[in-house]
Amino acid sequence: MNIGQEVLEALKEELTESEYNRYIKHLTYDVKKSNSDVAIFYAHNALVINWIKNKYASKIAHLFEIKTGNKVNVQVTLKNRTEKLKTKKQPEQKAINSLLNPSHSFDNFMVGGSNQFAYAAVKSVSENAGKVYNPLFIYGGVGLGKTHLMQAAGNVFQNEGKIVIYTTVEQFLNEFIRHVRNKTMERFQEKYRKCDVLLIDDIQFLSNKETIQEEFFHTFEALKGAGKQIILTADKHPKKIGGLEKRLQSRFEWGLVADIQPPELETKIAIIEKKCEINKVKLSKDIVNYIATVIDSNVREIEGILSKLHAYSQLMHVDIDLEFTKNVLKDQINENRANIDMNMIVETVAKDLNIKPSEIKSKGRSKNLVYARRISIYICRELTQNTMPQLAQYFGMKDHTAISHTIKKINDLIKEDEDFKVKIEELTNKITASN
Ligand code: ADP
Ligand code: MG
Repeated sequence: MNIGQEVLEALKEELTESEYNRYIKHLTYDVKKSNSDVAIFYAHNALVINWIKNKYASKIAHLFEIKTGNKVNVQVTLKNRTEKLKTKKQPEQKAINSLLNPSHSFDNFMVGGSNQFAYAAVKSVSENAGKVYNPLFIYGGVGLGKTHLMQAAGNVFQNEGKIVIYTTVEQFLNEFIRHVRNKTMERFQEKYRKCDVLLIDDIQFLSNKETIQEEFFHTFEALKGAGKQIILTADKHPKKIGGLEKRLQSRFEWGLVADIQPPELETKIAIIEKKCEINKVKLSKDIVNYIATVIDSNVREIEGILSKLHAYSQLMHVDIDLEFTKNVLKDQINENRANIDMNMIVETVAKDLNIKPSEIKSKGRSKNLVYARRISIYICRELTQNTMPQLAQYFGMKDHTAISHTIKKINDLIKEDEDFKVKIEELTNKITASN
């Protein structure tokens, strides 16, 4: 396997299967023309090339750097266009910065209740480097915009001419190992201690890696001491990251710790509209709303969905309407459904209606319980892939006809009662958002 194939294999781990199959699988790497500065891939159509450039090129460059230690310029092209490729060596400074995605800007970041605290914190840091919150620590679940926000600040600093290093723990560690091996540690230290701003993504991966924690501690101290801004992200609060030295953990909390929560429906809608604008995809309001309700909290999925819709409509020469969208998203929805757990649905409904989860699954016949049970069954049917007999078993009901009867009742209610319909939508959103 050549290095290009290895990198694509590594990228596979980070993508959904359909994303990988659609965009990455058919890429071929040009071993002969690529070198330590340029990695050349061929794709079979212009659309795919565009998406790869926008979405995956920086990831691919990053993976190359992890594997080879070289910062490469990733080029994706149609096979007959290679002569146009520039193989000029990139200046070192540019290469460091090229890992920042320019579309990760504050303007492109949609703010809502779920992320406004983190947004305000990062914005404030971007206007007062090293002065307000240092370090700034942002934490939250996957795909909620941590990297985007961190890089938005990075882009501001970079435009001001500051030396910005954006890296991940993994990359920091690999670089460290390489320099130890080559006995060039002073270069490593110089690089990291001379920057103006250090952005380290996914700091939870420091967990249980003592040597790199030690090195990172000294880097941190040097930068903090010199008033240089540090921004860190993680999937959890510093206190919750196990296997982390106490002195690091406490330093992570020195500045400000800000969390990002899953986006509310309105924020998801705003994000989808923004992504459509950036990617020049035109969608009607009902399609945007539909996508917002079917995707779960992970905003990263939105881009995959838009690219899928765009690619399908181009390849098949059809307009994107709601029916088409539903069809294209079938796999996606099923994937999401497979991850939603019925216990979680019951718990959410129970909490909302102020009863115990166990009561929903009991044989109790009080009005309240029957109402909660019916709603739970309906949502389980909508959001999971369980069959009617499986639902009957789970809810302790006689058989699948009891389930289908319940679902019909709820469907009738939804048609008659607007408030009830909204209630069901709210619950559904809550459940998909926390998944
Ligand atoms: P994380 O680092 O938290 O896993 P990312 O920053 O990589 O998440 O975000 C995943 C994708 O979702 C990116 O394409 C990002 O631009 C987008 N995204 C997340 N939150 C927002 C938001 N509030 N506004 C616009 N785009 C967003
Ligand atoms: Mg991230």
